[in-house]
Amino acid sequence: MSLPIAEQPHLPLFEGWSPQMGIADCGDSDWTPPRRTTCGKLPIHPGAMGIQFGQSVFEGCRAFWNGTDPARLFRIDEHYSRLVTSCERLRMPVPPEQLFVEAVANQLQDATSWSSPFPSETLYIRPVVFGQDDHVMPIPSARTTFVVLTAPLRLFPGEPLVLFAEREFSRAAKGGLGHAKTSANYAHQYLPTWRAKEAGCDAVLWLDAEIHEWIEEASTMNIFMVIGEELVTPSLQDTILPGITRRSVITLARERHGLKVVERPITLTEVAEAIEDGTLTEVFTASTALQIRSIARIVDRERNIDFPQETPWMDRLRRDLDAIQRGEADDEWGWITEVPVL
Ligand SMILES: *Cc1c(COP(=O)(O)O)cnc(C)c1O
Repeated sequence: MSLPIAEQPHLPLFEGWSPQMGIADCGDSDWTPPRRTTCGKLPIHPGAMGIQFGQSVFEGCRAFWNGTDPARLFRIDEHYSRLVTSCERLRMPVPPEQLFVEAVANQLQDATSWSSPFPSETLYIRPVVFGQDDHVMPIPSARTTFVVLTAPLRLFPGEPLVLFAEREFSRAAKGGLGHAKTSANYAHQYLPTWRAKEAGCDAVLWLDAEIHEWIEEASTMNIFMVIGEELVTPSLQDTILPGITRRSVITLARERHGLKVVERPITLTEVAEAIEDGTLTEVFTASTALQIRSIARIVDRERNIDFPQETPWMDRLRRDLDAIQRGEADDEWGWITEVPVL
């Protein structure tokens, strides 16, 4: 089953999951070892906490394989620690790290994961943890299931995105779930995203929930701006998802290029003014699914804020990240786990 692609023009082309998935269960006490099974339907009660009340968290990781050398899995330890945070926020048992990594590696080792439903050099990895117990009341589930789905992704040239500054709805509020990768953060975006599309935009620019001025994220991506000699990105707080691509971009910019990276709050007004006075030269997003993408424009009520088309810093950072992920550059910071494909 695939999503209606026509409604998701900025998303990578998804044409189905790999034929097998990994699965493990946690009962009252401990986790079963991961096993592999045909990807697809699970017996689950419709009243399960994961379905009924959104007691469900996930990750989105990526691996690369050139068809001969071992596959290269990107920053899996970071994905694991974020999964721990997400599980704890929803009072769920956390799969042990070894189980998590083994279940992911099992998917990577299987050449058919990469070649069906079509061959790809890059595999998207989607670990999901959800509550199995059914009850009429929202109570934490004792039985929890962990699955690892994978999907080959088509590589596509990313067109610059147009964002709709959302001044009515908000993604996350202080004290909420914005910093966790929980299912609850996504379905509520469908309506604002649909409205953004009606307004001719690709995705939503999320502003803070109180005054709708502070920039937080773009759809499901973190955001960066080059202003003067600095790379600026909103500082992390509990309304912002701590992206692993974000962190990698910061490290590359600082440590490889000596660029000054500033994590600080920034308003949409400041961005508009920095465009007026010519100090803002680039805006781009960072995420595992879409990697690094430039932003062409922000539509804010009646006003359009247009950004320069040349993106030298973004191009450089994207090339650096891509080279490490594909093994064409030194893995200077130990981001890669190699997994032989059998
Ligand atoms: C997953 C996600 C990101 C990007 O995080 P990465 O670790 O870089 O993939 C950013 N924002 C939201 C809301 C997300 O769900």
